[in-house]
Amino acid sequence: MKKNYLCFFCFVILVCCFSFNLASASEPLQNKVFVLDAGHGGVDPGTVVGSVYEKDINLKITLFLKDELTRLGAKVLLTRMGDYDLSSPKAYMRKKSDFDHRISFINHSNADYYISIHLNYLSDSSYYGPQVFYNIKKEENKILAEKVQSFLNKKLNTNREAKKISNTIYMYSRLDVPGILVECGFLSNSKEKNQLLLETYQKEFSTFLAEAFL
Ligand SMILES: [Zn+2]
Repeated sequence: MKKNYLCFFCFVILVCCFSFNLASASEPLQNKVFVLDAGHGGVDPGTVVGSVYEKDINLKITLFLKDELTRLGAKVLLTRMGDYDLSSPKAYMRKKSDFDHRISFINHSNADYYISIHLNYLSDSSYYGPQVFYNIKKEENKILAEKVQSFLNKKLNTNREAKKISNTIYMYSRLDVPGILVECGFLSNSKEKNQLLLETYQKEFSTFLAEAFL
């Protein structure tokens, strides 16, 4: 009888271990926390090309990215969930106030990574492809940016290089959490602009961006 109990006990342990391994295989980011920061919002549209507002595409990609990271097991926090910026209502310097609230949110999040989502624009319309930027405050930012950039290049058949963010940009030098700024594509390139407007592409891009963290 005792032997039967022992066998049953071993069987339960084996099933538990197997289930645990299955869970960690399907949710490889289960111990990670991300803050996603959709650029601009509300009165601040970001880059505007005709009727296309950067803020709207930033938010859509951010929400798809949240779904993808959650599917991979991560916990995800958002600096904004709708069409608004984070400035105080009567702020004297609205943009600085917006940045200050984003900085405070990210620095108090206890997250493993932040990802800021923006779109690029250049007067030369021949440029296309996502570009990852990093602040040199943390050495791991550069390593992370290069890893994500090369993964996106491979998946999307593009050839941009990860670049350092200038220290004159107010927000990024003040962030204590490791992370990157992803300019998901160029609104100045009409082919890429049209692609960025498609939900199917926004979703595909978000999937690749999430998988770059595996
Ligand atoms: Zn932007």
